[in-house]
Amino acid sequence: MKAKVDADTCIGCGLCEQICPEVFRMEGDKAVVKVGTVPNEAEATCRDTADQCPVTAITIE
Ligand code: SF4
Repeated sequence: MKAKVDADTCIGCGLCEQICPEVFRMEGDKAVVKVGTVPNEAEATCRDTADQCPVTAITIE
């Protein structure tokens, strides 16, 4: 499973880094995905994070 952040959509709220720091980190005022593949143990949290992003900037594939 992979996660992506659409930098044009991200408003830099920091929520994803708070919920799932295994996958997301803030770089300046945007979130980035810091892993190529989401670790198995972080998949559920990562999906939750995508659901909770206020602007739906996170996609999972
Ligand atoms: S939760 Fe969404 S809007 Fe907030 S920093 Fe993460 S990707 Fe950006």
